[in-house]
Amino acid sequence: MTVKMERKLLDRDGTWDYIGAEWFEVKEGTRWECIRCSDCCRKDWTINLTWKEFDRLKGDVRVLDLPGLGLEVDPETGLDHPFFRLDGACPMLRSEGAVCTIYPDWPYTCAVYPFLLLPDGRLMAHRGCTGFGHGEPVDIERWKGRVLDERAKAGMVRDR
Ligand code: SF4
Ligand code: SF4
Repeated sequence: MTVKMERKLLDRDGTWDYIGAEWFEVKEGTRWECIRCSDCCRKDWTINLTWKEFDRLKGDVRVLDLPGLGLEVDPETGLDHPFFRLDGACPMLRSEGAVCTIYPDWPYTCAVYPFLLLPDGRLMAHRGCTGFGHGEPVDIERWKGRVLDERAKAGMVRDR
């Protein structure tokens, strides 16, 4: 979650040959359920935003004036994508009940965590999520579709 988590390299053939040990491929039978521990909202991660998400959050009355929330653009280039930092606890997390106060208008990164869809079609999962081993087997095709839908919602691809 670049959340600097989408670390990846292409080899010469254009296939993914490295993604980092914190990711594993979701296989048939992999069980997962979000157990609402809110652990992923309490990291020191950086949440990358698309410009569409940036504009939406800046205009969201639930987000305006939140203490600790800074929507930023890379200061070195000024041209990079915007982002915000969790710094140990996302400002949009309501502690009681571990509720995301902007759901379902949360960023793509949050909507698809802990999953990541590679260009070669593999659905990967982040080991840091505590929900693995809980719930029913992951519906891999449904999650792939959800990732693509969320990308469209975030403005990463043309609306389908
Ligand atoms: S760490 Fe995993 S189980 Fe916990 S809230 Fe985040 S997605 Fe859900
Ligand atoms: S925006 Fe919501 S889901 Fe994303 S890190 Fe903040 S509280 Fe968690």
